[in-house]
Parts: sequence; structure tokens; C-alpha cells
Amino acid sequence: MTFKTLQLNLSHLLSSLRPWLTLFIVFWLLGSLGLGWLVNSFLILVGLLFLAPIILFFGFRWWLQSNLINDRCPVCDNEVTGLNNTQLQCNNCGEQLFIQDKEIQRFTPEGTIDVNAIEVPSQSLEES
Ligand SMILES: [Zn+2]
Repeated sequence: MTFKTLQLNLSHLLSSLRPWLTLFIVFWLLGSLGLGWLVNSFLILVGLLFLAPIILFFGFRWWLQSNLINDRCPVCDNEVTGLNNTQLQCNNCGEQLFIQDKEIQRFTPEGTIDVNAIEVPSQSLEES
């Protein structure tokens, strides 16, 4: 490595470091002017700006994990996913469902009598 390339590398390094150096000098100047609190509050603000999305992301994930219910449709046994305390429709049989207390229940309007269909054995159908 010649002296010239070393100088080139050094100037390249310096030019890439310049914004950081400027920032450092600005902070140092502010600190020496007795404005350390300004630097501190700025750093806290930057820290919060960095932390906020992370906290939001993990908070949202935690919320989703405790509120996203994955259960089977009580009508057709198809797997349904929905949020707690919301209404949804089974994507297989179209049954109106709602999730309450982390359990999927059939959405049947009040006053409607839920009649369970009796399964007809296939054998008797073939005989007739
Ligand atoms: Zn269903």
C-alpha cells in the first residue's frame, strides 16, 4: 500500500465520518454552552423514536396473541380464525359465528330454536 492510497482511504473514511463528526461537534458545543439538557432531551427523543415502533410491534403481537382465536367451526368443523369479541362468518359453510370468552359460538338470533339435524344412516337410503 503506497502513501497515496493510504491518503485516499483516509479521506474517504473521513468523508463518510463527517456527518457523525459534525453531530458530535454540535453536541459538544451545546454541552459546553450549558445546554446539556438539550442534548439529553434530544437523545431521549431519538431513543423514544427508535423504541416506539419496537414497543408498538411487540405490544401489537402480544395483543394479537391474546385476542386471535383459532378454533373449529361448531357446524362444519372447519378451522376458523378471528378476533375475540367479534363476529365472523365461517368461510366453509357460511355460518354466522361470534367469538366470546375465546370460544367460537354460533350466531343464532334470540328466539330461534336451534334444531340439530339428525344424521340419516346411508344404509337406509340405499335400501329404498
Ligand atoms: Zn362452518
